[in-house]
Amino acid sequence: VLSPDEAERAVLLAAPRGYCAGVDRAVITVEKALETYGAPVYVRKQIVHNKHVVQTLSDRGAIFVEELTEVPAGQTVVFSAHGVSPQVHADAAERGLKTIDATCPLVTKVHHEAKRFAKEDYDILLIGHEGHEEVEGTAGEAPERIQLVQGPDDVENIVVRDPDKVAWLSQTTLSVDETLETVEAIRQRFPNLLDPPSDDICYATQNRQLAVKEISADADLVIVVGSGNSSNSVRLVEVALEAGAKASYRVDDASEIDEDWFDGVDRVAVTSGASVPEDLVEGVLALLAEHGYPDARAVQSAEESLIFALPPELRRDMRAVA
Ligand code: SF4
Repeated sequence: VLSPDEAERAVLLAAPRGYCAGVDRAVITVEKALETYGAPVYVRKQIVHNKHVVQTLSDRGAIFVEELTEVPAGQTVVFSAHGVSPQVHADAAERGLKTIDATCPLVTKVHHEAKRFAKEDYDILLIGHEGHEEVEGTAGEAPERIQLVQGPDDVENIVVRDPDKVAWLSQTTLSVDETLETVEAIRQRFPNLLDPPSDDICYATQNRQLAVKEISADADLVIVVGSGNSSNSVRLVEVALEAGAKASYRVDDASEIDEDWFDGVDRVAVTSGASVPEDLVEGVLALLAEHGYPDARAVQSAEESLIFALPPELRRDMRAVA
């Protein structure tokens, strides 16, 4: 017999959540590179921003480095899903490294837009977070033309050569609503602002934000599974709170959940960032069950079926050893 408290309880599970097509491709790229070339395979930066994924691949023989100078000459190095600047490609060639580029194709699309706007002599305002690898890679496509805008507060300090020749781009993992605010502020200053040909914030970021919004309004607690350096995971906490959740926390896994968070909580919502393996979500649901919460009910707000082919240079080598 359920106590009155338990009868009120519910767990809602956001869908879609977890792995996006770009993360799936990047993780499989490292796994297949290990199978094809043998360990070690070097990876520049975290392949995706999730500490469990990085640990699992390290256990299989991947060596994660911050810079190419840490990779011995002649070795194979994988570039992460977040993309790299042309300078990194040039440095790799100079060091005689074999490279496999696991940059998400949706990040590559933003690089192409940056190159095109720069060629057409626009000043480019890149909306994003300073220091994020994706921003560094995109900005590297045209460092003399691109300036970073972190939010509406930055807009008054923008200096451009010609106010009628300004375009904007964005990081793929931002909050959709906040980015719109920033774009509006930029457009106030530069009415002839040129938009990118399509959304830079990727389908996976948008779908995960939409899904968490749907389950957050009535939630007492929203648990977001994801690492602290995962931009899209951190955004999910913000979106949940803006959507009306009473509380929201990000955890790497179930072990980081504080039992005090459950005090007086009936409705729990759970989601995960685009770089998060599903077993970590299952761990959170198991912990909720131990605390007397019922089985989770999935709330589906979008369907996803996108799959990206592995990098062509890897596919070629896989065929050669088959
Ligand atoms: Fe690609 Fe979006 Fe996934 Fe980033 S979050 S890897 S841009 S699909």
